[in-house]
Amino acid sequence: QFITFEGGEGAGKSTQIARLKARLEAMRIPVLVTREPGGSPGAEAVRNVLLSGKARQLGADAEALLFAAARADHMDTVILPALAQGKWVLCDRFTDSTRVYQGEAGVAPAYIEELERLAIAGRKPDLTLLIDVPAQLGLARVHARSSLGSVSDPDRFEQDDIEVHKRRRRLFLDLAETEPDRLAVIDGSKGPDSVAEAIWQQVQQRLADALAE
Ligand code: C5P
Repeated sequence: QFITFEGGEGAGKSTQIARLKARLEAMRIPVLVTREPGGSPGAEAVRNVLLSGKARQLGADAEALLFAAARADHMDTVILPALAQGKWVLCDRFTDSTRVYQGEAGVAPAYIEELERLAIAGRKPDLTLLIDVPAQLGLARVHARSSLGSVSDPDRFEQDDIEVHKRRRRLFLDLAETEPDRLAVIDGSKGPDSVAEAIWQQVQQRLADALAE
């Protein structure tokens, strides 16, 4: 099974991925955790270019092509082989992040769709968990975490502008409305235990057949 986690900064994706991994492994299900942009050696190299600001001169379309290049490599060398081995793949961000972030940055939806088609070779996630938090809360969590020194420098996509966060949140929620069979919206404003429980309920409901195997 291929499960992706989406949401804005400060939504709590990393914590919840670790929780779901532990839960699945307790059931003896083999799990691979990965992330985007990155996840394979080639794609991590592209990630460095994208997040370090070295590609700052690129226009939004060219930047979207780099995200797609990283995704194609990640898909071919990591995700598809793991799925073929029967692993459950948990991926921190995937195509919905591109639709939201690059879409918000001005890339046309048709352009994004074409890149997605090329990069994922027809393999959509079986389930996407959209961890939704109000823009203000996400931003406050990011600030709290950087003042604790737990994360290094903010990357170049991190934003202090609350309006940008609000637009991204809306775009994520719009995607969930367009593809309700694939995307489940999880209320991420609660504590980590409640969020983990809500996620587990969705996994049980939506992937019942795979869990029973
Ligand atoms: O997952 P994380 O929040 O660490 O994401 C790394 C950075 O890459 C974030 O700042 C995110 O906004 C950005 N990003 C992006 N477009 C994507 C995926 C991630 O701008 N398609």
